[in-house]
Amino acid sequence: MSELRELYQEVIIDHGRHPRNFGVLENATKQQEGFNPLCGDKIILFVRENDGVFLDLKFDGCGCAISMASASLMTECLKGKTIKEIQDIFNLFHRWVMNETDSDLSQEKLGKLAVLGGVREFPSRVKCATLAWHTLKAVLEGEKLQVTTE
Ligand code: ZN
Repeated sequence: MSELRELYQEVIIDHGRHPRNFGVLENATKQQEGFNPLCGDKIILFVRENDGVFLDLKFDGCGCAISMASASLMTECLKGKTIKEIQDIFNLFHRWVMNETDSDLSQEKLGKLAVLGGVREFPSRVKCATLAWHTLKAVLEGEKLQVTTE
């Protein structure tokens, strides 16, 4: 288990330091701001959607390693997915981070996103890990104002 934990940490450090899909997305069809006042993490999520498919996602902003790694992994994972698939991943991810499921099947379905389950042991960091996802939910629901994790 400790080897697995080290691997988890490596993925988070890697994505935290070198976030993928970072920057402004030209020709985005949707954008949404999110803020986690507990830690000061701030992101803007950009999505280019067509016909119910998220063709491209990028994010901008600044925050702690966990919030950046989470947004990086999320954008990587959701690219090319349909809104229906994204809703399913969102629900599963939420249950995973909130420790409502830890089955092997859930882990398999989440793939790399499962590393963020490490925050379960640090309740104060859960909001860092879920900021990008709260922001995503607002995109799915068509919110316009800044969302916060509070
Ligand atoms: Zn944070």
